[in-house]
Amino acid sequence: MRKSVRKLLSWFHETKRDLPWRRTDDIYHIWVSEVMLQQTRVETVVAYYQRFLQRFPTVGELAAAPLQAVLKIWEGLGYYARARNLHRAAQMVMTEHDGHIPKEPDVFRRLPGVGDYICAAVMSIAVGYPLPVVDGNVLRVYARWTGLGDDIGAGGTRAAVGRALAAVIPADRPGDFNEAMMELGALVCTPRQPRCEVCPLAVDCYACIHDRVDELPVRRRKPAVPVYDVAVAVIVRAGRLYIQQRRPEGHLGGLWEFPGGKVRDGEEPMAAVVRECREEIGAEVSVLEQLAEVRHMYSHFGIRLRVYVCRLSASPPVPSQPHCWIRMAELVNYPFPAANHKFFGALKQWWADHPALVQADP
Ligand code: SF4
Repeated sequence: MRKSVRKLLSWFHETKRDLPWRRTDDIYHIWVSEVMLQQTRVETVVAYYQRFLQRFPTVGELAAAPLQAVLKIWEGLGYYARARNLHRAAQMVMTEHDGHIPKEPDVFRRLPGVGDYICAAVMSIAVGYPLPVVDGNVLRVYARWTGLGDDIGAGGTRAAVGRALAAVIPADRPGDFNEAMMELGALVCTPRQPRCEVCPLAVDCYACIHDRVDELPVRRRKPAVPVYDVAVAVIVRAGRLYIQQRRPEGHLGGLWEFPGGKVRDGEEPMAAVVRECREEIGAEVSVLEQLAEVRHMYSHFGIRLRVYVCRLSASPPVPSQPHCWIRMAELVNYPFPAANHKFFGALKQWWADHPALVQADP
C-alpha cells in the first residue's frame, strides 16, 4: 500500500489541475476554498472563490463585513450555513485569536463550521498536519482500493476509514495525499466507468484486480426525498414589491424571500398563498395571476414552487421579521435562494409588461 501511496503522489504532482487555491499557501484562502468545496463541484467553486477573495481578501475584512454582504457573494452556492459560520468564525479569529487563524487542529476545530473535513483539509494542506480527509470521493476510492464491503454511508464506516488512512498518510506530504485522493476520486475513480488503466493505484487495487469495480463501494439505498408544494406571493404596490428576510438561523437563514409557505393537503395553491400572507405577515391579498411554477431540489427535500403576483386588498403587512418594499431594479442587491432566481426572469418580464398594475396603489 505504501508503494501505491508514492505512485499516487507522483501522479498528483504530474497531473493535478491548476486551481486557484493550489497557487497559495495562505491559510485563510485555503480555508475559504475548502468551505466552498464541501458539497459543491470544483468547476462551480472557482468563480465564487475568486469573487469572494476579491471582496474579502483577508480574514479581518471578512469579519468586518455585514452578513448580508457575505450572503450576497455566496448567493447561488447553496448551503448558506457555511457562509454564516465562516463569517462568525472570522469574527472569532479577530476577537479571540488576535486576527491569526489557529494552526493547532484542536483549536481550529472549535471555530464555527469547522468539522472533521474542514479541519483535516485545512490543517493538512496549509499547516502540514497528517490528518486524513474523508469525503465521498475518498470513501469511494478507499472502498475500491481495499475491497471494503461496509456501507460507506454509515457514520461508523467513515470513522473507520479515517483511522485506516491515518496509518498510511505520509507525514512529509499530508496535504498532497489528501488532495490526491480527492482528485483521483473526481477524475479517475469516478462513480461510473472509472479509468483503471490510468490509475496509480491499479497495481494493488482490490476492485480492479478482482473485477468488482461495479460492485464497490457498497451504499445502502436512501429513501426518496419528499417534494413539497409551496406557494409564494410577490405583492406589488405603487411601483414596489414586498420582500422579507428569513430568520438568521436555520435553512436559508439570513436570505431574502417572498411571503408564502407549504400548501396543505387538499388546499388549492392560490388559496394557500392568500392564507399564508394572512397568517405569516397579517396581510390581506388578492391574486392577480400565477407568474411561474418552478422546481428545486435541496439535499433532503424538493419543492414545487408556485409564484403568484398579488396586490393588497385590505390590511398592509405587519411582519415580525425585517422587510422592505423595493423597486425591481433593487432586487439584485439582496441575496435570495436559488429557487427564487428561477422565476426572476419571468418576474422582470411581467413587471415590464404590466406598468399599470405595477404602479397601482390599492
Ligand atoms: S484501479 Fe480503478 S477501481 Fe481501483 S482505485 Fe483506481 S480507478 Fe478506482
